[in-house]
Amino acid sequence: MSQVKYVLDEESIPKFWYNIEADLPKKTPRPVNPANGEVLPSEALEVIFSKMAVEQEFSQERYIEIPKEVRDIMRQWRPSPLYRARRLEAALKTPAHIYYKYEGVSPSGSHKSNSAMAQVFANKIQGTKYITTETGAGQWGSALSQACNIFGISCKVYMVRCSYDQKPYRKAMMEVFGGTAIASPSPFTEAGREILAKDPNCRGSLGIAISEALEDVFKNPDTKYCLGSVLNHVLLHQSVIGQEAMKQLEMAGEYPDMIVGACGGGSNFAGIAFPFLGEQLRGGRKVDILGVEPAACPSLTRGKYAYDFGDVAGKTPLFKMYTLGSRYLPPAVHAGGLRYHGMAPQISNVFEQGLMRARTVKQLDVFRDAVAFARSEGIIPAPESSHAISAVMDEARKCAETGESKVILFNLSGHGHLDLASYMAYFANQLQNYQYNEKEIAMALSMLPSQTPKE
Ligand SMILES: *Cc1c(COP(=O)(O)O)cnc(C)c1O
Repeated sequence: MSQVKYVLDEESIPKFWYNIEADLPKKTPRPVNPANGEVLPSEALEVIFSKMAVEQEFSQERYIEIPKEVRDIMRQWRPSPLYRARRLEAALKTPAHIYYKYEGVSPSGSHKSNSAMAQVFANKIQGTKYITTETGAGQWGSALSQACNIFGISCKVYMVRCSYDQKPYRKAMMEVFGGTAIASPSPFTEAGREILAKDPNCRGSLGIAISEALEDVFKNPDTKYCLGSVLNHVLLHQSVIGQEAMKQLEMAGEYPDMIVGACGGGSNFAGIAFPFLGEQLRGGRKVDILGVEPAACPSLTRGKYAYDFGDVAGKTPLFKMYTLGSRYLPPAVHAGGLRYHGMAPQISNVFEQGLMRARTVKQLDVFRDAVAFARSEGIIPAPESSHAISAVMDEARKCAETGESKVILFNLSGHGHLDLASYMAYFANQLQNYQYNEKEIAMALSMLPSQTPKE
């Protein structure tokens, strides 16, 4: 009988982050200044982020050493376990071999802790006193609050309004760790007030929350901002996931035919997929890589590859990415972490080059499959992670028809213990199958910034 759980010792935590940029045939376009269409100098980003984050953002090095202090903190939950989903395989009567890397063992219950520790450490060594950020469902806000607590930095989190109402325990969690959670749009910033004046019951979005957090940074020189996804340095920090999974699958004597991850901004997906994609680009085995997004917010599958703002108010630089338009306000799906209008520039680049595929799944299918997974494996998945689960179950069912024993690896990016209200709403038939709104997307895309770089 094959093993169920693949565990590594603390010594096996990667000592380096893996940077896909070194292996990409076409480099990812750099961010651009919206005022003049020119490539943004690093110093401009250092107003917002830590120096270390900016250096990593533009690095072309394949391996970047993980600071000892960060690695030491991660020893609490890393290496995370890799499981063989044997009861799920049996339930689906599939010949596929399904493996999942489980990131729910971290203090925040998701992969977000991996980047939070790195980003806050980088701020600590340069003397930052205050950090602000956005959060959707609250996993990033709680990860950052805990990291700030460890390093003695004050943490303020703008939490998307609909998630703030759907997931009250996440707010409590941020407060337990000493952070402050504010519902966004809030009356405390110009960006928030402007939106509330037009729509007092606005459900909020990650793009709005980012505008509010950045406003704090531009007004207060001792404040820095941390982002939970999207940017190169955040994807870099998550590369520990795939590097560990590679070793664990080696223990199992397997190599994945297919890798699946849920895509919000793209960090957990990149974390599991990029180390394998790097192998492929260096002449190794080809892998079928699938990103899964909600039908309500289909940036890869319905978006446009264009320069756009990362936030609603247009305070960020322009990033070349698949986008639904920074003014798009996605429906209030319960996977708050996937409600972002854009996709990471590196993932957008990889997708544009045909090195991965993408598909959407609908909210009701996601919850149906999340419940089936929980009943088989005993782990209640986060609604975000369940997007990957739903797509994996579809693939496994296809294998049952064809008889193919594909090796499928997916990232179970977090647990859903603080999302149980969403499960209750599902059982009470209160959830809907939100589709994206074609008209609203067309409208948002028509408002893309006109300033594009001189290439
Ligand atoms: C934030 C989050 C996501 C989505 O963000 P990515 O950057 O795309 O990974 C997915 N799953 C969980 C559990 C999250 O907390």
